[in-house]
Amino acid sequence: MRLDAQTYSSETSFDLITRLLQLILGMEMVTISLITSDKQILRAQQGLDMEESSREAAFCNIAIRSYEPLVIEDTHQDARVRDNPFVTGPPFLRSYIGAPLTTADGYNLGTICAFETKPRQFTERETRMIGKCAKLVMDQLELRSQANRDPLTKVANRRSFERGLNRELARLRRRPGTAVVAFLDIDYFKRVNDTYGHPVGDRVLREFAALVSEQCRENDRVARLGGEEFAVLLPDTDLPAARIWAERMRWKVSKTRFAGRDAVKVTVSVGLAALDETQTSSEAITLAADQALLEAKRLGRNRVVAP
Ligand code: GH3
Ligand code: MG
Ligand code: MG
Repeated sequence: MRLDAQTYSSETSFDLITRLLQLILGMEMVTISLITSDKQILRAQQGLDMEESSREAAFCNIAIRSYEPLVIEDTHQDARVRDNPFVTGPPFLRSYIGAPLTTADGYNLGTICAFETKPRQFTERETRMIGKCAKLVMDQLELRSQANRDPLTKVANRRSFERGLNRELARLRRRPGTAVVAFLDIDYFKRVNDTYGHPVGDRVLREFAALVSEQCRENDRVARLGGEEFAVLLPDTDLPAARIWAERMRWKVSKTRFAGRDAVKVTVSVGLAALDETQTSSEAITLAADQALLEAKRLGRNRVVAP
């Protein structure tokens, strides 16, 4: 059996946790949901069939304001939720218990919660149980995020990049458009290690990843493919726009002094490849970006090459 983040995806463990909580509490509905600026997105659910709701309608929106579980024994007696659409309409919720999903730095991402169509009371033990389940969900999220991140630079790793690329290709087939992949390779990086030592080289890699990330929009995805090689996926971008972006980034890198007092200077070579709805293979795209990058190296480095 192969054990990786795919096999043991959070969805599977989220399903288990919600089932377990359903059994422990003997309640009809259990959900794990994450809150965005305007929505509640359900990541696992038992006894309910819903993908998302508006943030205002979500009970979760009240529960994430606290670090303690929220208990509502009878919705009809509680002014905060008496007029809630899920109370006055289907599924006609009468009782609720929900615990916030809190990150290590104290940020509430969403909740795990249980609902019932009858009023009910909750024991202190049940409240503690749901708190433990919330902790379990957060452990799973943390493991998953570690599996997708490069430990040195904290940007996405190669596996996460490839998954993102395949998702983008699928998205383009559903809704035609363009996107661009940029491959970045720091020039003569071996010299940095040889001159300043490996720890300084590591610091340059971290600062380089941060600098590239700063040059990106919210939906762009920066990844470290390995060594001193990085990739950026730029959704909703065509080649001319990507070229302007890459030139600015290349210029910024060449003007930056990395690693504090060591003031290390490096340059970067960039290869671009465009994606559209006619492509099906991520391999063909990475090959094209790789070839453009090789051409940038061949032409003398510190430059951007697009097909
Ligand atoms: P080119 O311009 O052709 O890309 O030359 P280069 O020296 O950058 O390329 P080469 O592939 O010869 O060397 C890459 C160097 O990157 C060698 C390796 O020691 C260094 N490197 C790879 N991973 C790490 C890392 O995690 N930390 C540090 N400090 N160095 C690394
Ligand atoms: Mg390289
Ligand atoms: Mg290199």
